[in-house]
Amino acid sequence: MVNSATTGVSLGSLAAMALAATAGFAGSVAFAQVGLPNPAAVFCVEKGGQYQIENHATGARSVCRFPDGRVVDAWDFFRQNQGATKPNPPPGTKAERIWTGGTIITMDDGAMRAEAVAEAGGQILAVGAREEVMKTRGPNTEVIDLQGRTLVPGFVDAHGHMMMGGLQALSANLLAPPDGQVTDMASLQETLRSWAQANAASVAKVNLIIGFGYDPATLKEQRHPTREDLDAVSKDMPVVVVHQSGHLSAANSRALEAAGVTAASKDPAGGVIRRRAGSQEPDGVLEENASSAVLLKLLGNLGPEGLKTFAREGAKLWASFGYTTAEEGRASPVVTKVLQQAAADGGIPVDVMVYPDILIDRDFIKANQSKTYVNRIRVAGAKLSLDGSPQGFTAWRDRPYYKPVGSYPPGYSGYPATTSEQAFDAIRWASENGVQVLTHANGERASDLLLAAHQAAQARFPDAQQLRPVLIHGQFLREDQLENFRRLGVIPSFFPMHTFYWGDWHLDHTAGPVDGMNISPTGWAMKRNMLFTSHHDAPVAFPNSMRVLDATVTRRARGSGRIVGPEHRVDPITGLKALTLWSAYAHHEEAMKGSLEPGKLADFAILSADPTVVAPTAIANIKVVETVKEGQTIFRLDSASPTRVSAQAPTITAMFASMGDGQGDHGHGPGDSCPSEAMLKVAEVMAGSAGPR
Ligand SMILES: [Zn+2]
Ligand SMILES: [Zn+2]
Repeated sequence: MVNSATTGVSLGSLAAMALAATAGFAGSVAFAQVGLPNPAAVFCVEKGGQYQIENHATGARSVCRFPDGRVVDAWDFFRQNQGATKPNPPPGTKAERIWTGGTIITMDDGAMRAEAVAEAGGQILAVGAREEVMKTRGPNTEVIDLQGRTLVPGFVDAHGHMMMGGLQALSANLLAPPDGQVTDMASLQETLRSWAQANAASVAKVNLIIGFGYDPATLKEQRHPTREDLDAVSKDMPVVVVHQSGHLSAANSRALEAAGVTAASKDPAGGVIRRRAGSQEPDGVLEENASSAVLLKLLGNLGPEGLKTFAREGAKLWASFGYTTAEEGRASPVVTKVLQQAAADGGIPVDVMVYPDILIDRDFIKANQSKTYVNRIRVAGAKLSLDGSPQGFTAWRDRPYYKPVGSYPPGYSGYPATTSEQAFDAIRWASENGVQVLTHANGERASDLLLAAHQAAQARFPDAQQLRPVLIHGQFLREDQLENFRRLGVIPSFFPMHTFYWGDWHLDHTAGPVDGMNISPTGWAMKRNMLFTSHHDAPVAFPNSMRVLDATVTRRARGSGRIVGPEHRVDPITGLKALTLWSAYAHHEEAMKGSLEPGKLADFAILSADPTVVAPTAIANIKVVETVKEGQTIFRLDSASPTRVSAQAPTITAMFASMGDGQGDHGHGPGDSCPSEAMLKVAEVMAGSAGPR
């Protein structure tokens, strides 16, 4: 840090931090606050050196001093040994751009606020007091006035599905307020009608009306649309609406007909064609592989170009919310290839971390896993899914659901998506092969299985904690489970937006008024000095960073306004860390991302207001006004439309219109979640790898 005093960090405290780092920030170490150890400092000490920060005329520099007299730049030394990226710019380098005139929050506990930040060659050159940073100004330096706005590190996606987010961006928006306007069947129909009207030419040309994001939990009728509901939108045109989870869809009579789904159709393996009561006639609602079959018939002819468009639109959507790094949280080799091609064409402005499925694509993961991005894409590890969704009553619990909506047997507690053998084998394989694994586990029973699998793997491979395995969601956790995740070095990635979107649903139906308070138990993590991350799981919700932050800080249910688990609320700085530095750490990227420190990438989000200063209830209204990736502006609010999702993007039917026909096919397999295997198959087939895997 420029201007910071020379810091003598004691070896004792660094050793403690190093210990904490390898133990996943384990327990008994007394921390003044939850914070990340500086990895360069930890590494220096591990290698027998002493870490010091020195002030020079050109700014501060951290060095690692060895007993033999050798002195090296601490961050260079760390990065050279991590296989990660660029050395610091040489001393005397002049800034290309300097941002000043607003609030700058660095996420660096050593100096949380700064007055200016300078960039050169895509990296942060200096950050700190304005006077000091301005010393890096040269004749060609552009000085940017923040005009009182707030600059924070670019957000690192803790968990999402970027390509599916692109599909969301291109379809009629069937989400409930505040993200859409659908509250009942009539408004769902009206939204589809007006979307079809606004896109009349391409709808007519390609013969499809498609919507995304409906949810029975937020519809007044508390049920899925039926074919009759959608026939009321159009009798002549296929209409398909995709459930917010991606697991289900509903189709009108014309769409069922076009897809060949009739009373004579049998349910596909891993899918259900729902029927009218007392009849074999499809009622329009399709689950899992039955849903994907219909979507394939109607989307399949978009082909790989269509998928690339999804990828580009997804990346734009992420960037519009300040994300400079996105996650493809469940991929396949084919989807990875499409992303790589789209990125090679220059169409992906953000870094994308890709996690293929560990049950299917091990050879591919092992061969392609890398810490280095090529054209903004890297295969970062593997994805495992152990159960389903809490709001959909498919999470695998250790107790019955409270008052599930639908016909469930007494004592119903959900079910697993894998066998125990599969889970144990997957975690063992990842631990043995040095692969980071992200595991979707929502119910307590799923987490029990995951804990047992990690415990067994670490008994054989004690270093496996260093791979930083991640628990994705953990919506229904017991406190003893979080303690065991801490002990095993598993980083929780929570979904606090559930308190906003499904808070009332959890309190009234899934978990009840007591357990429901502990969904996304960030407070239990804070109590243990465990870092955690906060995700959106887009397209399950919009990748709306400020909504994520709001939910992490306030935990307010959108319907009743109840506070869902007051003791789990965190302060805004902690909430921001979960979106930046801690998420970078959870992806092994903290050496380059997550905080504003010299040498890290110049990835920034510029916000309309300071989330640490406004009333917590106003955080959700903060706008991302600009996003900067490695010094370059990749999103600016004034160049986007006010309803930036549906109005700006080319619609899916417009894409259809510009493309030729091709016929899709589909494969079968067990459905699970996150968002869904069915949707992944749609992508697979669109990309041209037809058939079962
Ligand atoms: Zn998931
Ligand atoms: Zn997911």
